[in-house]
Amino acid sequence: MPLAKALSISLFGLAGRLIEVEADISSNLPAFVLVGLPDASVNEAASRVRAATANSKLNLPGRRITINLSPASVPKQGSGFDLAIAMSALGAAGLVDKHRIAKTVFLGELALDGSIKPINGILAAVIAAQKLEIDQIVVPLANLSEAKLVSGLKIHGFDHITQVANSFGANIPARPPGEIIEGIPSQPESVPCFSEVIGQPAAIDAMLVAAVGSHNLLMYGPPGAGKTMLASRLPGILPALSECQAIELCAIRSVARLEVNQLSTAPPFQAPHHTASLVSMVGGGGSQPRPGLVSLAHNGVLFLDEAPEFQSSVLEALRQPLESGSITISRAAGHAKFPARFQLVLAANPCPCGHSIGSGKDCTCSATAKLRYKNRISGPLSDRLDIRLELNSVNAALINSEERGSSSNQLRTLVTSARLASLERLNATPWRTNSEVPGSFLRRNLRLDRKTTAQLDFALDKNLISMRGYDRCLRVAWSIADLAGRTVPSKDDLAKSVFLRGNEL
Ligand SMILES: [Zn+2]
Repeated sequence: MPLAKALSISLFGLAGRLIEVEADISSNLPAFVLVGLPDASVNEAASRVRAATANSKLNLPGRRITINLSPASVPKQGSGFDLAIAMSALGAAGLVDKHRIAKTVFLGELALDGSIKPINGILAAVIAAQKLEIDQIVVPLANLSEAKLVSGLKIHGFDHITQVANSFGANIPARPPGEIIEGIPSQPESVPCFSEVIGQPAAIDAMLVAAVGSHNLLMYGPPGAGKTMLASRLPGILPALSECQAIELCAIRSVARLEVNQLSTAPPFQAPHHTASLVSMVGGGGSQPRPGLVSLAHNGVLFLDEAPEFQSSVLEALRQPLESGSITISRAAGHAKFPARFQLVLAANPCPCGHSIGSGKDCTCSATAKLRYKNRISGPLSDRLDIRLELNSVNAALINSEERGSSSNQLRTLVTSARLASLERLNATPWRTNSEVPGSFLRRNLRLDRKTTAQLDFALDKNLISMRGYDRCLRVAWSIADLAGRTVPSKDDLAKSVFLRGNEL
């Protein structure tokens, strides 16, 4: 019977669906027809497959070939179906073993000469295939090292359709395979070290607390106070990513069309310029949504320097990922959901001119200008900032001193053991870090004794602090205690958390 089937994966966001690519050859007039909701780029596959097979001495019969992509309800986009379409047509024509191709996922775009070109999102597609318990997958050779980041299934890489056909039972002269492009063992990304930060012991201490609880942080101070210097060093003291987190990040990068060829366990650091657009920040794009910087910073740090200068729509859009740890992009074809759990670090000048505090120079801003500037980081975003750190200019005497602080490696050891303590405490809960724990849980389930909270309770009674502010202090106090190796926060830990909460900018 001139009927055959091959498998492929349709990707939308990071989610993959299994697509059956059926081919039927009938005795009607020669034609190549695609059915089953293919978009324009898939429709063009007909011409590519015809040319690629003909130019490779794989002669499809001059009859009507109908390709059905099912389920029909799942939209299919891009050129990654070419190889599956070609293989199912070759199966129907009896040129390859139709039983073996029926259990194999094929991914790859065909050039007219039969070469197989790399496609985007291969890692996400292979992860989807693994979840679907597929045991064999064929990918473009150029994507092989990316695909092999996933273990547990047989992955083959080819760069010409003749090689694929031969490995599935054909016997034709095949183009010799090209070289496998191995993952280039890149230098571990050099994150600058905290030992180079001089004269900011209080700031380093606050960064440590922020790292322990994954607390969002605002730094404000005059230009040159070292805000960027501190923020860029934060990823260096965060615990390394687990293998699972590293693969997830690679899959996001792959869908974002960034180069992926090896796993890195270094937490990501994204520092967009303040002119960044909404789409680049949260993701989006055409019919096939791409992840934005909030997702590329997943399990790492998103640093916004000169935060009040960002478009308010961009700042506003951070709200959803900050609340849910993910971002959903809606398109006619469905909703694409990308993970986006990042630690937010904002830096701001104290006023538009930057000199109203700590720089020793005179501020030239009007009261209205200052207020407008301050209000740009407002409401929901401001609620999510557990730590507010005021920085002053570093004076020359400090810069010239010989004293060196702890290195990032030493600090990371402290952070990692403090994280373990909080993980143990939060074991039976859905939360993993202190910053995620809701205030109600802290007040009920992790209640501190009255003596410890006396001052904070007094401040709340006298309206010197809001309920939200109260909860923020509790969250940060737990991180301070975890860092110090205490099982519960002390009175001093709470006092320090009040200090770190700082003034609202
Ligand atoms: Zn000013």
